[in-house]
Amino acid sequence: MDARPNSPEARDISYHMHGYTNARKHEEAGPLVIEKGDGIYVEDLAGNRYIEAMAGLWSVAVGFSEKRLVDAAVRQMSKLPYYHDFGSKSHSPLIDLAEKLVQMAPVPMSKAYFTNSGSEANDTAMKMIWYRSNAIGQPARKKIISRIRGYHGVTIASASLTGLPNNHISFDLPIANVLHTATPHHWREGLPNESEEQFSSRLADDLEKLILAEGPETIAAFFGEPIMGAGGVIVPPARYWEKIQAVLSKYDILLVADEVICGFGRTGEMFGSQTFGIRPDIMVLSKQISSSYLPISALLINEKMFEPIADESNRIGTFGHGFTGGGHPVAAAVAFENLKLIEERDLVGNARRVGAHMQKRLRELASHPLVGEVRGVGLIAAVELVGDKANKTPWETAGALGGLVNCFMQQNGVISRNMGDAVAFCPPLIITEPQVDEMIDAFERSLEAAA
Ligand code: PLP
Repeated sequence: MDARPNSPEARDISYHMHGYTNARKHEEAGPLVIEKGDGIYVEDLAGNRYIEAMAGLWSVAVGFSEKRLVDAAVRQMSKLPYYHDFGSKSHSPLIDLAEKLVQMAPVPMSKAYFTNSGSEANDTAMKMIWYRSNAIGQPARKKIISRIRGYHGVTIASASLTGLPNNHISFDLPIANVLHTATPHHWREGLPNESEEQFSSRLADDLEKLILAEGPETIAAFFGEPIMGAGGVIVPPARYWEKIQAVLSKYDILLVADEVICGFGRTGEMFGSQTFGIRPDIMVLSKQISSSYLPISALLINEKMFEPIADESNRIGTFGHGFTGGGHPVAAAVAFENLKLIEERDLVGNARRVGAHMQKRLRELASHPLVGEVRGVGLIAAVELVGDKANKTPWETAGALGGLVNCFMQQNGVISRNMGDAVAFCPPLIITEPQVDEMIDAFERSLEAAA
């Protein structure tokens, strides 16, 4: 880091508070200031080049230098830089995007509703579900079930849905009406000799017990990511979603698929819901929708959601919800162009083909003494590191090894991310096999350096 008093690093320490950062440690270590992007690479102020193995925050599908998205933004900015969709107002970029998303949905969806971030979208989904419960004359149906280690964002409601301690401790969360059920992580949570399928059955039974204990008539919805991302890239065990959905249908509980990470090709299908046979009532979309060149998110809702909401808004006068920047025309135009690119370049097929190579290369590391589990699908994966392979216990304190390997990765020219001891890989969908090799070779060197 450049420690001169007026360097960007020093000014960052002086003036900028970071999220998801230990503020005191940051004052000592300073930031890594990224200046430029080029394909799957980014470059820092000193000109060091890194593979962005996390696509930023699981989001830059088309890489960091896509001119067509820049052109789409400039075109729209010059024509109509801002408008909104409150009341009867609309604009063409949003109409185009809404139509495209409804047509792309893997299950019949009725409408798209636009917000700015994944958190806002989940918050909105929760409010829509409550509104619907009132509309259908079931006002007691307000409880929402999500999962321990799930991640749904950071607003008061979405942070409550999130099932990670750092998002709750010292924030007085979760709020009332949010309940958490077990993490579908067979390797860590499965009992000795319990098969994946048996584990899935046990988790579905646990869910049913929770529903019965709370009263089925009080449970409105279940929120889940097809693959848990920020909780450590947890891939559900065999038949998990089938068994969970059977319980939800039995008690008429809505299902929200949080596709914020999995959506738009990450798993090698357009949506994670397709990979796991999920039939959601609401899909929450963000990140890869615009490759995060501009912030935008969307909810897709089915008729079961839309019809009662429309009836209720007719009764009370208005659906009292919306964001000034929700469905911003420039972000919508960029998202539309981005989705066209994903289709034209078959990035979903690339995620499947190059993803298979990435998964193979990572699984070759399974016998390494520091590797506990390798998991993933398509172009998303994690390697969970352990100190003691047999007992699956951490090295020194939990997260220490993951953090160390992550530091070595940066020295080896790769920006990765560790969630505790799970080192995650979620590169741009445009990555090639030789680039995957470059990324995993650096990971191997980093593992050796830590060993
Ligand atoms: N849902 C999932 C699955 C996510 O991974 C994230 C962010 O990482 C969110 C929601 C929250 O999105 P945002 O950070 O845009 O609020």
